[in-house]
Amino acid sequence: MKKKLIAGNWKMNGNLAANEQLLKAVLAGVGQPACRVAVSVPSAYLAQCQSLLAGSVVELAAQDVSAYESGAYTGEISALMLRDFGVRYAIVGHSERRQYHGESDEAVALKAQRALGCGITPIVCVGETLVEREAGQTVEVVKRQLAAVIRANGHCVSEIVVAYEPVWAIGTGKTATPEQAQDVHAVLRAQLKAASPNADRIALLYGGSMNAANAASLLSQPDIDGGLIGGAALKAVDFLTIIAAA
Ligand code: PEP
Repeated sequence: MKKKLIAGNWKMNGNLAANEQLLKAVLAGVGQPACRVAVSVPSAYLAQCQSLLAGSVVELAAQDVSAYESGAYTGEISALMLRDFGVRYAIVGHSERRQYHGESDEAVALKAQRALGCGITPIVCVGETLVEREAGQTVEVVKRQLAAVIRANGHCVSEIVVAYEPVWAIGTGKTATPEQAQDVHAVLRAQLKAASPNADRIALLYGGSMNAANAASLLSQPDIDGGLIGGAALKAVDFLTIIAAA
């Protein structure tokens, strides 16, 4: 059976002292988990977190990666640079980047390609807004977002991780019900299977107000292979409870 993946997304939170405290508490409690565990930290703290996590079961992730290889792209961080810091996963296409930075489906697909090219697993986020859900467009939207990544990455698509993150559930305390999440995951699984014979090994994460109380029921769904965790990843005890649920 493939191992679930629990990935924390710290977003733009933390500082040197708080990061150290949080990671030390996670490492003290994580033991030998049954799932894979990663933390996606602000890029300014990659070096700090790389050193704190060295030799541990918790892997390092980035929150974004440039669609470009190198050059005159002020402020961007390339996949090769991330690799210098031992980064194992990079989130691409988080809804906050799509919304506040105007990232298109095609740009997200290129970012996934860059990450894969450097041996970093992209965690490709897809998800509908509330308006889109209420208009009955959920399936159309997530399939369109994923299709761009499939088109750009061909057979390598079996190396990605996908996170279904309904935008209306992110940071709002409103979680998709396990059935709502499972329904969308089944659609994404079918789309991936049609694209790659190895799609079964792709982890499909759910993200959107997953917390210590609701993680077990979400993670028990047949097509939910883990979670992308925002707010709850900032509290060691909550993050550890979710890891234990997986
Ligand atoms: C996220 O940022 O990817 C996320 C799922 O956030 P939260 O868990 O806080 O909703």
